[in-house]
Amino acid sequence: MGPRIEKALEELGISSLADLISHYPSRHEDLSNVKSISDLRVGERATIVARVVSTRPVGRPVRGRTPGFSVQLYDGTGYIPAIVWGRNWLLGQLVEDTRVMVSGEVQRRYGIQLVAKAVEVMDDAPDDSNGSPHAGRFVPVYPVNKGIQARRMRTLIHRALDEAGRILDPLPAEMLAHLGLPSLHDAIHEVHFPTDRRHLKSATRRLVFHELFLIQTGLAVRKARMERTETGRSHEGDGRLLNPYFKSLSFSLTGAQERVIEEVLADMRSERPMRRLVQGDVGSGKTVVAVAALLTAVESGGQGALMAPTEVLAEQHYLSVSAALVELPVKVVLITGSQSAAERREVLEAIKSGEAHVVIGTHALIQKEVEFRDLSLAVVDEQHRFGVAQRAVFKEKAATTPDTLVMTATPIPRTLSLTLYGDLEVSVIDELPPGRKPVDTRLVEPTGRQEAYEAVREELEEGRQAFVICPLVEESEALEDVRAVEELHEELSEDIFPERRVGLLHGRMKAEEKREVMTAFRGGEVEVLASTNVVEVGVDVPNASVIVIEGAERFGLSQLHQLRGRVCRGLHPPKCFLIGTPKTEDSESRLEALCEYQDGFKLSEVDLAIRGEGTLFGSRQSGMPDLKVAKLLRDIDILIEARREAFELAAKDARLRKPEHRPLRREVRELLGENVEWLFRE
Ligand code: ADP
Ligand code: MG
Repeated sequence: MGPRIEKALEELGISSLADLISHYPSRHEDLSNVKSISDLRVGERATIVARVVSTRPVGRPVRGRTPGFSVQLYDGTGYIPAIVWGRNWLLGQLVEDTRVMVSGEVQRRYGIQLVAKAVEVMDDAPDDSNGSPHAGRFVPVYPVNKGIQARRMRTLIHRALDEAGRILDPLPAEMLAHLGLPSLHDAIHEVHFPTDRRHLKSATRRLVFHELFLIQTGLAVRKARMERTETGRSHEGDGRLLNPYFKSLSFSLTGAQERVIEEVLADMRSERPMRRLVQGDVGSGKTVVAVAALLTAVESGGQGALMAPTEVLAEQHYLSVSAALVELPVKVVLITGSQSAAERREVLEAIKSGEAHVVIGTHALIQKEVEFRDLSLAVVDEQHRFGVAQRAVFKEKAATTPDTLVMTATPIPRTLSLTLYGDLEVSVIDELPPGRKPVDTRLVEPTGRQEAYEAVREELEEGRQAFVICPLVEESEALEDVRAVEELHEELSEDIFPERRVGLLHGRMKAEEKREVMTAFRGGEVEVLASTNVVEVGVDVPNASVIVIEGAERFGLSQLHQLRGRVCRGLHPPKCFLIGTPKTEDSESRLEALCEYQDGFKLSEVDLAIRGEGTLFGSRQSGMPDLKVAKLLRDIDILIEARREAFELAAKDARLRKPEHRPLRREVRELLGENVEWLFRE
């Protein structure tokens, strides 16, 4: 097909026949309505098959060329001129008496004419009107780029389908029959060149099912393998730490917390390694669940680790967990990347000797040098900030597979969690501690900023505290951000709240400085905290009752929800001011949704709907392939069906060893590529 086209295809990710036939159309044009000229109605879209009588240029010439031409057509029932714009190269082929198929819209302008969308030169054979890929049918419209025209793409795919021959189906025929799904061969043909809408629909359903089923099979196989090959530790906690810990809490657990803790402890008692995800909205009280699990591990003679995505959060967990356990014979240590060599050596030693019972840290926790005496439980807080790979590292640090508990406050719609975390059991904390007030959330134009600061002043006068969040400049706390937050800090402390103590926090500060300001903020000595989004996750200062987010349009919806979550922890009615001017429709919808809804699950669905789903599966993050045809919001019922079928199949043939499952095995392996190791390693 020539190097230019080849290159254009490559840019679209197409380098083989198989890629070409799985380059699915983004939509179809209905050019199937074949009519005779005398039956045409003004306003309708139709296709006619007729002979060329004559042609003439139309429109005002530009640089010596006319923009289009008119071709007079006759089909035995009548005459009609078809207007063709921008395809003058066709003229050479449209000599008198040539048979053509023309699709377009019938319009009344100087008499009746057909404004052509597609013009197809036909062979003289009488029955080839079904053979053209471009007209007289549902015509596929493909995603293309500069290097390749839509029409060329259609021709190529049409030919590729011919050349591909019979497409083998890796899915078990019996299952397809019982689900009423067409074969892969039929589905692929129909999705490109559908017979009619009904066929198109069932073909699409099949391809969506196909995609989700392969992923779910991967997950099911992985789960089965782990259950088969891994024995974990049975944690028979005796309550000697857990009971006093619960007693020491200043509140009683919510029903949801109790239920989830029970689910976690039951997993831990079992010999099967725990793999559980705890989902709970911001402020729902996930930390207690983590601590309960950690103590149970310690009661049973093991060590527990708790990993958090930021140093600020790791420090906070360290402080609050140590404080809660101060009366108990449990040694808690902290490990982060910014400790001095001496500190670090001491901590590593304590972890190795087993003197440390609970280890709390950042990524530093999973570095090579960290050796445990007997790691038996790993908890990952704010799991969405980590990848799947990191979850696996803990396994290498333990003799028997440790129990894993992952927690996330970023609410993930159920559909997504089934896919992303399809191999995990899920517990949901679906209840907030009593007395929580909704956060009064308002969108304020930058010019109205004073209103927000007035509200902050009122809160401060009541003895409460405030966050002021600086807009994101760069994704990763670049110097620009530091400068921006320093400026904000200066403005707040000198001009706006000169009488208040204003603290500064950003990711580039020394660990010691961060600790100092967080301690002061927690203790109430710092009343206003000017911060970057380092406080986005986990930070818990119940006395803070108002948050001002500058440049709100630059944050994502879930980030804003998390930030707002910083002030929904106390008993005072909290406030959140989003300062910004949304520049796109999407950012406007995001900010409006935030003002309207408090519930993180609801917001995550809104987010999914706004963002589309393409970006959700960045495979680096999730370890999952991108979805090509499935849309999680639209296809939830198919997802559930695919999941059920996949797990049923894995229950019968967990290694996919049966001859009829071999092709499936190959396909799953190919799809999940680099993740195959975790899939099929025996
Ligand atoms: P998250 O789920 O966001 O991690 P945390 O565990 O940080 O939430 O808890 C948020 C706040 O709620 C903390 O101040 C915590 O002490 C408090 N809290 C947790 N559980 C309860 C409860 N059952 N009743 C009252 N307050 C609670
Ligand atoms: Mg938390």
